[in-house]
Amino acid sequence: MNHIKVDIKILIYYNLIGKQVIPIKQKTKKRFSLFEYVTFSIQNCCGWTLVYMLLQIVFAIFPTLMISISAMFINAFINVYSGIDSIEVLVRYGSLLLLFVLISYLLPTCVSFAGIRLNADLGTAFDLLLATKRSRIPYALIENSETYELLERVCADSSGRMYTGIRNLFRAAEYIIRFAGITITLFVYDVTVGLLTGVLLVLIVPVCIKGGKEDYQAYEKASEQFRRARYLRTVLSGRDSAAERTLFGYSSWMNQKWEAWYGEGRILASVATKQNFIRIKIGSMISVLVSGGIMLLMLPGVSNGTITVGLYISIITAVIGLVQLMTWNIAGVVEDLVVSQQYSKDFISFMALEEEAPASDPGDRIPVRSIEFRNVSFSYPNCDTKVLDHVSFLLETGKTYALVGENGSGKSTVVKLMLGLFKDYDGEILLNGTELRQLSPGQLQGIYACSFQDFARYELSVRDNIAIGAGIQMDQVPDAAVREAIDKVGLTDYISAMPNGMETKLGRLEDEGTDLSGGQWQRIAIARALIKDAAVYIMDEPTAALDPMSEKDIYDFIRQAMGGKLGVLITHRLGGAARTDEIIVLKQGKVWERGTFQSLMGRNGAFAHLYNIQRSWYQ
Ligand code: ADP
Repeated sequence: MNHIKVDIKILIYYNLIGKQVIPIKQKTKKRFSLFEYVTFSIQNCCGWTLVYMLLQIVFAIFPTLMISISAMFINAFINVYSGIDSIEVLVRYGSLLLLFVLISYLLPTCVSFAGIRLNADLGTAFDLLLATKRSRIPYALIENSETYELLERVCADSSGRMYTGIRNLFRAAEYIIRFAGITITLFVYDVTVGLLTGVLLVLIVPVCIKGGKEDYQAYEKASEQFRRARYLRTVLSGRDSAAERTLFGYSSWMNQKWEAWYGEGRILASVATKQNFIRIKIGSMISVLVSGGIMLLMLPGVSNGTITVGLYISIITAVIGLVQLMTWNIAGVVEDLVVSQQYSKDFISFMALEEEAPASDPGDRIPVRSIEFRNVSFSYPNCDTKVLDHVSFLLETGKTYALVGENGSGKSTVVKLMLGLFKDYDGEILLNGTELRQLSPGQLQGIYACSFQDFARYELSVRDNIAIGAGIQMDQVPDAAVREAIDKVGLTDYISAMPNGMETKLGRLEDEGTDLSGGQWQRIAIARALIKDAAVYIMDEPTAALDPMSEKDIYDFIRQAMGGKLGVLITHRLGGAARTDEIIVLKQGKVWERGTFQSLMGRNGAFAHLYNIQRSWYQ
């Protein structure tokens, strides 16, 4: 149930920020057009987008203006030297040139500053959009490895994606404007030279686009290896595995594995980089040749006076600057554009994933009388094995049930189906006689309160850790209700003795955070379920981390709290199962036995066998 944890965290994040994001319109097409980046940016961060756009346009036009200004200055200098013009003319053009040089130094800083601001605002808006979408994706899609990988690809390092898309668009526009400026200036004086400059662009851009696509494919393969290596790094350095890492001493073995996976990824990435480097080198050689050609072609114009010396020098300077930019930068920009486009393909698929309605409103709650499994069979998506095989049983309100069985017998799967997390089953699951699939996710959420075996440990306050389960906005949960839940799980004395009582932060995220023992965390997780005014309580191994004394107490607390409701307990501790009204024994995906504790013991079947084995441990 790990993925549920992640999603709940995202939901909290979204609730805490509570900001509205204007979404990107749902698309039926495969890619995200470059202009949609701008639309999203304008809709969510209008001011900084406009400032950034304006500065980028000025920045792009500047080099063309510089050609004319520096040409005028050089010509004035030659004329003053030859005695044709007065020194005032030189001072005038010199001042103008100085002003332009000053502005051209300041402009990149202004563009960067606007870019940083835009990136920060856009990152937040985009992350919120992704978090909202992610929180609405049905559980079954998250358990599916294909969609989960898509989700990871889209959501990992997502903050800068929108800004990168926009920056690349403007950088591409900048080069086009600079290029057009030089070409037009050249056309005015010499059509052939203008045409040749055009050829330069036609030659380089397709090479860059092809390179970018190949790069992305190689990057995709490499990123799969990097993803595996990242997982190992978490195991090697994470807090959760610290004790086992020390005890089992597996670090060196895992380091080798990490090195192998990381190395494979690096080889794939470096092959792509090498190919790309060769392409850039060939591209740069072609452009150096073409710009050399342009210089030669312009020479006759200079000697017969159609092109002034000033213009020649300025254009040559601009062409060399642009060629350098194109061979190194433009290749990168076009590649980034292609990567953005490929990302947008994933993004469109991600946004098109099926959604579930967000959490129920309290008015949605329906009273539960019974839950019935009628001939339910189920296989996980993309798996042929039948995990549940014609399972039938009836659960009635006012009673508690224990679901027992060996590992892999299908207990958690029964719970997942009961919660409506998977809809693709054969047979019927009836809630008050109505097929579960007809209920909205909101209605289903309103019905259940669950405590999972691998419960989440939120690095929040004790209060929030419990209030989060209430099924309403956390800040609307009364303190008294939280206290009552704490009391039910027997933590009142312990929490009162904490430095800030219920407001004490748990975990190590904050300096003053307090960590709890496994058993205390488990009690918090149970309190989180008990605080909800639900019709059905599901407790998956609620006492796995508790000592036998606490275990007995907790079962009593749970039974009391569930009083009058429907309770389902999944447990390996058969002593706990004995305290329920009815026991359902699952084996190989089938209901093997069911009945009261006494009847099952009298039957001397699978349950009695397991129970006697457990009892013998204590004798
Ligand atoms: P239990 O809770 O009784 O230990 P589960 O319901 O978790 O058993 O698992 C029943 C069977 O379903 C096991 O064989 C397990 O390997 C398989 N299974 C569980 N989750 C998945 C999944 N997401 N995809 C494929 N098979 C799964």
